[in-house]
Amino acid sequence: MSLVSAISKTILDLIFPKRCLGDCGCYDVWICSACLQAIRRPLTECPSCRRTQKTNIVCPECRDASPIAGLTVASDYQVRIVEQAIRAMKYQYVEEIAEVLGACVAQALSEETTVRTWKKPVVIPVPLHRTRKNERGFNQAELLSRVIARQLDFPLRTDILRRSAATMAQATLDRSARLHNVVNAFTVRKRVELSDKPVILVDDVATTTATLRACAKELKKSGAGPVWGAVIARSHQ
Ligand SMILES: [Zn+2]
Ligand SMILES: [Zn+2]
Repeated sequence: MSLVSAISKTILDLIFPKRCLGDCGCYDVWICSACLQAIRRPLTECPSCRRTQKTNIVCPECRDASPIAGLTVASDYQVRIVEQAIRAMKYQYVEEIAEVLGACVAQALSEETTVRTWKKPVVIPVPLHRTRKNERGFNQAELLSRVIARQLDFPLRTDILRRSAATMAQATLDRSARLHNVVNAFTVRKRVELSDKPVILVDDVATTTATLRACAKELKKSGAGPVWGAVIARSHQ
């Protein structure tokens, strides 16, 4: 951290003291350990048809049509603190929250039997379009990916996937519009050869998984092995 940002951070901490996002009233942490306990893993399901099953691997009926092999969801979206933490990370740029949430995703991933059999999968964040990244100043999926790659000791690649089209915010669209919105939005940079390497594709939140699938499709065109999605939460809207 530069001196200027260190000073401005100190000033910000004085004006807006850090406070747990839960209802506990704790100071000095974004999510205290008691509130962290509220984060619970949703039931395992097929990421495509959402039928409850024993694992998060795409079920046999959906397998042929799905470019993602499975999806890890770290928390139930209904947990209020998770929703608030995602919002704070995204709109207030609270990097420390990405640390906590990224650790939750890493923990959930480390328990996936399929992922455990992979040797050093490459961690790739869903990219933001340049314009949006400049507006926001960071890509939240990239912050999470850094934490996940560090904690699991997997290589991180932020230079492979590119968002070529400035798509509309998915949250503003209905289901079918969302699917169309992202279909051709992503490209893999030229001359990248993924030579069958398994990939962990990271985003903050998934809804229809249209974004994850569009990214996975491009990665697979460039030779990626199985692509496994990883998100903090999956919303039902
Ligand atoms: Zn708390
Ligand atoms: Zn299915």
